[in-house]
Amino acid sequence: MREVLFRGKQIDNGDWIEGYYLKADWNGKEISAIIPQNTVLYSGNTIDSIIEIDPKTLCRYTGMNDKKGKWIWENDIVSRMIPKPLIHKYEEYPEHQWRRTEDGEIDDGAMMYENHNGPVCERCGYTFCVFCDPNGYDKEPCVIDEYHCPECNHLLDEKDRFCRYCGQAILQEDKNR
Ligand SMILES: [Zn+2]
Ligand SMILES: [Zn+2]
Ligand SMILES: [Zn+2]
Repeated sequence: MREVLFRGKQIDNGDWIEGYYLKADWNGKEISAIIPQNTVLYSGNTIDSIIEIDPKTLCRYTGMNDKKGKWIWENDIVSRMIPKPLIHKYEEYPEHQWRRTEDGEIDDGAMMYENHNGPVCERCGYTFCVFCDPNGYDKEPCVIDEYHCPECNHLLDEKDRFCRYCGQAILQEDKNR
């Protein structure tokens, strides 16, 4: 049988604690508590640790792990279902930051494709062929136009509805209005 595990934040120091959930009457007051998994039971119904938690922070382990093997807790999922807008990073620069050779010259061989070659901007990735397009140096502005996840900050596509890294729901603006 799979164990049902919970976690919550300790009342006394705010740290997360994992274990079994217990709702109990404690000297006439109802408390929410976690009993850690390695707790020892003694005769006379006493146990060595019951840790009181803030019931608002209680989460249940879903039995699933994320890609890195980290446990996914139910409250985490619930909070990531609430859509948040993407972070839009937009920056314009007066000139490209061309990759340089060891002696500081613009490296015209940074991009090579069949018999074409040219420089590459290390910031925005813009490149062109110096033979086919001799005036290519400032044909395109140096602009960074990216969208990031509001939760984990990974690079996403503007049209993504969920973050493919952390599952955060993305609020989509209605562009047809
Ligand atoms: Zn070319
Ligand atoms: Zn650039
Ligand atoms: Zn994310």
